[in-house]
Amino acid sequence: MLSAEVLYSNTVYKEIPRKIPIEGYTDNHIHIDPINGEGLNAVKKFEHAGGRFIFLVCKTTADWKLQPTEEGLLKLSDKTISISKTINKETNVKSFPVIGIHPADFVLMCNRFSIKAAKEIGFKVIEKMGKKIVNEEAIALGEVGRPHFEVENEVYEACNDFLLKIMETAADINCAVQLHTETVTDTHFTEFREMALQAGLKPYKVIKHYSPPLIKAGEKTGILPSLIASKENIARAVREGNRFLMESDYIDDLSRPGAVVGPKSVPRISRLLYERGVINEEDLWKIHKDNIEHAYGISLDY
Ligand SMILES: [Zn+2]
Repeated sequence: MLSAEVLYSNTVYKEIPRKIPIEGYTDNHIHIDPINGEGLNAVKKFEHAGGRFIFLVCKTTADWKLQPTEEGLLKLSDKTISISKTINKETNVKSFPVIGIHPADFVLMCNRFSIKAAKEIGFKVIEKMGKKIVNEEAIALGEVGRPHFEVENEVYEACNDFLLKIMETAADINCAVQLHTETVTDTHFTEFREMALQAGLKPYKVIKHYSPPLIKAGEKTGILPSLIASKENIARAVREGNRFLMESDYIDDLSRPGAVVGPKSVPRISRLLYERGVINEEDLWKIHKDNIEHAYGISLDY
């Protein structure tokens, strides 16, 4: 039987858990497309499900019938920034634009122009995007990296050169980078760490979008995994720790329903797993607030 003293000391010394506000969930990687998708409506669905913050990532130029040129790419990021402003005005969701050149666009540029021209245009665009981040129009560079489909060796190498340049820009302006790559294992995390260090970028500012639950590898290398909000994924992840982010990678395209999980998935899965005792309040705070604040260097206000 427990003595009163033990009970008392437990009550006194037990850390008071921080309550996750019901509106406190963060989706680290979402696309909103007012042309092909639901647009603001998808954001409202997220909000009604208990969502509060989103990292709004650029789509590809093809999605909005733009050309993968300097002009087209800058238009793409400006449009993303403008959608973000509308979201912040019309809903209670706070959105942060993440701008960059999608690897699919970069590969397209290599094939359509030349590798040399693709790099030249790419470098120029990333420099201009970096200025937008300095001006606080956007928060980070992404999604950038390597295509998930196979390409010629030369193009793959060009992607790596370009990624290094992007990381150097990120290091200069001290912003985070959201990586899109082929399917990864922990050796890739070591590779990304080395690349970041070479660029002078802190590895914890490198976020691997669409990451498998490689939590231990992330802790070891500094790379921050961002996981698709599925029950299996998150349940597996928390067995290794809570240093990760959650995302829907919702693409908001009505012609491709169910291509990925819906806009409500991050709040829905978070709440479900919390209610089932798979994740606890501290996990929620880490995933939806602390890890985000650390990587992006911001503070989230509820
Ligand atoms: Zn995406």
